Amino acid sequence: MNILRKKALPVKKIDTKIISLVENMFYTMRNADGIGLAAPQVNQNLAITIVDISCIEKYKDAKPILLINPEIREIYGECVMSEGCLSIPEVRADVLRPKQVFVKYHDLEMNEKEEEFDDLAARVVQHEIDHLHGKLFVDYLNPDDKKKFKKQLADIKKGKIQTDYLLHLYSDDFHGY
Ligand code: ZN
Repeated sequence: MNILRKKALPVKKIDTKIISLVENMFYTMRNADGIGLAAPQVNQNLAITIVDISCIEKYKDAKPILLINPEIREIYGECVMSEGCLSIPEVRADVLRPKQVFVKYHDLEMNEKEEEFDDLAARVVQHEIDHLHGKLFVDYLNPDDKKKFKKQLADIKKGKIQTDYLLHLYSDDFHGY
């Protein structure tokens, strides 16, 4: 099974391997012009996700987010946003998700934390946490988009998903995650 379809394993303790993985993930995400990344996307089956939307002008004051072993505890509202994924560069589509989420997670010192995310940050956090459960945003496509991306979805089903290093640079305002 493709690693992007597996459930990620919880992080039990922070060691130098985890720290360098996190550093590597931030590097990879920024290098790919992404705004979020989950460890399985870089071939590590661990429950680690990062989000940084500050490269988008409207969110330039947003701080980078690191979520270890994240769990969504509560959801509020719903909204539609256009999504893409660094691992599925050829698909981009509207997805309906909760607008706000309340998340429990560990930080890099394994402290238990809780935080509420809203708007784009909530969107990316949910997309990344899905990656830890083997779920991809294309699983939510509406029937029209399913038809439109039939070939790509068939490839994904066959396990053709990109999990090596992601070097997609987007020239417009689109940022994958
Ligand atoms: Zn993704």
